[in-house]
Amino acid sequence: MSTTTHHDVVIVGGGNAGLSLAGRLHRDGARDVVVVEPEDVHHYRPMLSYVAGGQASLTQLRRPQDEVTPDGVGRVRGRVVRVDADRRLVHLESGGTLHYNDLALCPGSSVDWDAVPGSADAVATGHAATSYLPDSAVRTWEMLAGLTAGRAVFVMDDRHVPCAPVALKPLFLALAHWRATGVREAIDVELLVAGPRLVDLARADSVLHDAAIAQGVRVRYGVVVSGVEAAGRTLTLRDADPTGTASTTNHAPVPYDALYLAPPHRAPDWIATSGLAVEPDGSDGGGPDAGFLLVDPGTLQHPDHPRIWGLGDVAALDALPSGARCASRSRWWRRTSPRAVGARPTSPTTATRSPRWSPGRATSCSPSSTGRARSSRPCPSWTWSAPVR
Ligand SMILES: Cc1cc2nc3c(=O)[nH]c(=O)nc-3n(C[C@H](O)[C@H](O)[C@H](O)COP(=O)(O)OP(=O)(O)OC[C@H]3O[C@@H](n4cnc5c(N)ncnc54)[C@H](O)[C@@H]3O)c2cc1C
Repeated sequence: MSTTTHHDVVIVGGGNAGLSLAGRLHRDGARDVVVVEPEDVHHYRPMLSYVAGGQASLTQLRRPQDEVTPDGVGRVRGRVVRVDADRRLVHLESGGTLHYNDLALCPGSSVDWDAVPGSADAVATGHAATSYLPDSAVRTWEMLAGLTAGRAVFVMDDRHVPCAPVALKPLFLALAHWRATGVREAIDVELLVAGPRLVDLARADSVLHDAAIAQGVRVRYGVVVSGVEAAGRTLTLRDADPTGTASTTNHAPVPYDALYLAPPHRAPDWIATSGLAVEPDGSDGGGPDAGFLLVDPGTLQHPDHPRIWGLGDVAALDALPSGARCASRSRWWRRTSPRAVGARPTSPTTATRSPRWSPGRATSCSPSSTGRARSSRPCPSWTWSAPVR
């Protein structure tokens, strides 16, 4: 028999955004907060970069979900399949429902292999891999460390890729490994970047760019992979076109022996079809944000349902999704949410008067331009920070 329980705040997703928010709300005195999370094992995702760079193992980045859920916060072990915004209900796969005063949607995003035809076939060959999936992160280092001659291509896409510059970690760690093992001269290395720079911070960008050039990496900006021909180990490129309107130039096919991909991501289907998301051709923007949760970028509230909030990779925000920004947004949510204004309901009118969040500068695992991996404490409110040897 299906049951309905009521909670003051329901948070969907016990990843970086959901856990950061849950912890902050609890510290601020909210006493009826539950996190809905189906997985029993939590992955500390920034550390996947170090797995892909041969510096850490999957065991080091895994923790039981119940251990990382903040004390005093409830956990519902379940998967959300639908939101009924008018009745303030969240439907679970199990058939149960949760009724909420406020709902924070933080289910993240997932790799969209379909966005780059042939990419899924390519990763199945062992000549291509990504750090965005745990098993593939392990295979990334096997592939890079096993390369002794030929052509290595690293791709940094920007289509909703969480923390897109993470490609730089396996790149610089592989360069150091190839130098140490005496094969560097036999490997041609190219870095293909969708945007006009490697990272948003100008000073870091120039240091990283110069470090790549100094280590013999050819860097091409403003290109995205349009397809991969797995059997022939070739990828096709076109000009990056953020608006989707300009005519694009196709480039000569790029052969590879080892291919690192940072694949485009998509929002969960149940968000895309919830009526709460950016429509593909709607007046609210569409384009690359289609399917992601529509939120006011200043308050993180849904424009039509002010008691629904969106944080983390699922939110359509004009900023690179990353763990550090999840933490900064959860602080902001605290200030604009009803709990911060004495439990008075927040109306769209009060929301527009609230302080507004701006992306600013946020970083957690700083990029490395050397062969030494260093992990700063990633997100102050992310429950734990795993050591990197
Ligand atoms: C390889 C890699 C390296 C990274 N490096 C950095 C870094 O150095 N610095 C940085 O700031 N960021 C980094 N990031 C980005 C950072 O990990 C993400 O931005 C962050 O995890 C996003 O948090 P989130 O909570 O939105 O999504 P997630 O962390 O993906 O969590 C989403 C959670 O929602 C759950 N969920 C999904 N669907 C449902 C459902 N239907 N019902 C209930 N629960 C659901 C999932 O199981 C998951 O636990 C990196 C990411 C990767 C992959």
